[in-house]
Amino acid sequence: MEKHEAEAIVITCIDFRFQEYIHNWLEENFKPRTFDRGAFAGAAKNLDTILTQIDVAVRLHKIKKAVLINHEDCGAYGVEGHVDHHVRDLHAASKTIKERFPDLKVETYYLKLDGAFQPIV
Ligand SMILES: [Zn+2]
Repeated sequence: MEKHEAEAIVITCIDFRFQEYIHNWLEENFKPRTFDRGAFAGAAKNLDTILTQIDVAVRLHKIKKAVLINHEDCGAYGVEGHVDHHVRDLHAASKTIKERFPDLKVETYYLKLDGAFQPIV
């Protein structure tokens, strides 16, 4: 089998309203365009699922980076979906991923309804 490695895994919510924004953002910001991609309602809300997917991506595709994108007005968060909650979950996810996969870079974003990507650091 030919070697096939990816630069990153990109985790987003399933919400259809944001897919075009995400697609365009990946086109503009992501080169080379080799990345695994996973979509789960609430994105960073599903840390156990995400960790499983990252583990597979690390083993199979030797990824170097995990990108987590939560978004405004997320139905998976419902009335608890204020920005502070998203930031808290993204921070927690980032910390756990770095502990579990020390060699991985982690980037987290909060995607607004207008398509703006807000980096969460
Ligand atoms: Zn969502």
